[in-house]
Amino acid sequence: MSPARRGCAAAVAAVRRRGHWAALWDAARAARRCQATVPPLAHAQCRRRRAGLQLPAAFAAARSRPAPRRRRDPSRRRHRRRRLGRRGRAAMAEQGAASRPPPDVDTDDCLREYRHLFSPDILAGQVAFITGGGSGIGFRIAEIFMRHGCRTVIASRNLQRVSEASKKLVAATGQQCLPLSVDVRQPQTIVAAVDEALKEFKRIDILINGAAGNFLCPASALSFNAFKTVIDIDTIGTFNTSKVLFEKYFRDHGGVIVNITATLSYRGQALQVHAGTAKAAIDAMTRHLAVEWGPNNVRVNSLAPGPITGTEGYRRLGGRFAEEASQFDMIPLQRAGNKTEIAHSTLYLASCLSSYVTGTTLVVDGGSWLTSANNFPAMLDFWAAGANKNQ
Ligand code: NAP
Repeated sequence: MSPARRGCAAAVAAVRRRGHWAALWDAARAARRCQATVPPLAHAQCRRRRAGLQLPAAFAAARSRPAPRRRRDPSRRRHRRRRLGRRGRAAMAEQGAASRPPPDVDTDDCLREYRHLFSPDILAGQVAFITGGGSGIGFRIAEIFMRHGCRTVIASRNLQRVSEASKKLVAATGQQCLPLSVDVRQPQTIVAAVDEALKEFKRIDILINGAAGNFLCPASALSFNAFKTVIDIDTIGTFNTSKVLFEKYFRDHGGVIVNITATLSYRGQALQVHAGTAKAAIDAMTRHLAVEWGPNNVRVNSLAPGPITGTEGYRRLGGRFAEEASQFDMIPLQRAGNKTEIAHSTLYLASCLSSYVTGTTLVVDGGSWLTSANNFPAMLDFWAAGANKNQ
């Protein structure tokens, strides 16, 4: 405790003991010294008296007088450096590191370098089944999981795409990766893939539902079939895969499900009624399944990314357009996110770090949905120019 604070505490004790104006005056002086206001306790003590009495002039003056300015000590910085020591100085140099993005690459390739932030064996011995794991966010999730000791199954419609992705992942991480063809709209393809994965690895601990389809389109121009297709892939596909995994493995062994959703529905994002509706339904599904499957030791959570660079979503939904129009200045963290940031947050939700977290949605968007403009006319112009098809 600083001398000023000690003085202050002693004066408050005196007010308590003696309860007279002199002690209150001491309290006021001590409070001024420690740059605080008069201790509330002293006020409380004297409230009854103040009802009938005027404050002594000296006390009132002490309250209204500005706090004395500290003299600048030119050697203060040097002293501070000495006090901090080498480790303290390193910590100072790292200031801001908590919101600095980790390195990433914009293509569907593995990271050129990687520094572990979590324990490298946090997923050791586990197996993750990742739909949409051959590209974009799903690919990076597979890579980061494998760098933490996990074996993976990456599944999507295009077998060639997942096979090539698997080769890159194995080469970069040295872990096993099984590429499989799956259409999440067709349960029998999921059943076949899960059977094959269990035959290969004998276990599945984690399911990442990342498969999705999206594009910009105003509701009035959206065909019935286009709306249904997005619901089929995103919402029904997530249910199909979760149900197959639950019945084939999680019911008896427990497990973790992370559904990749979006913030589109939070403010009714223009030109996104199909995807916003589909993802909102998945967030609801997350809570229902968390309640029903919790007793089987299955945790179910959603992760809602904001705009993420180097992805199909970013290209199709006008990410570059927003970047060039300085629209990311509106985001509290002033930038788009990257795939590694999403993978790190998914790793948190999939690992024992979040052992008591279920039925929730983790928004990973730099605060974007809170502040970003939902500019309908500008989005319509962008859509009409067909830029979403070319970028
Ligand atoms: P992406 O690379 O296009 O990923 C979508 C994946 O889903 C593809 O690998 C695709 O592979 C697979 N897929 C599509 N339909 C499928 C089906 N019927 N059955 C099985 N797999 C299917 O896109 P991304 O931008 O990285 O997005 C990944 C996830 O993050 C999505 O859920 C997306 O909604 C979400 N998200 C992304 C952003 C962003 O800024 N990128 C923002 C918010 C949310 P095939 O074509 O081989 O089937």
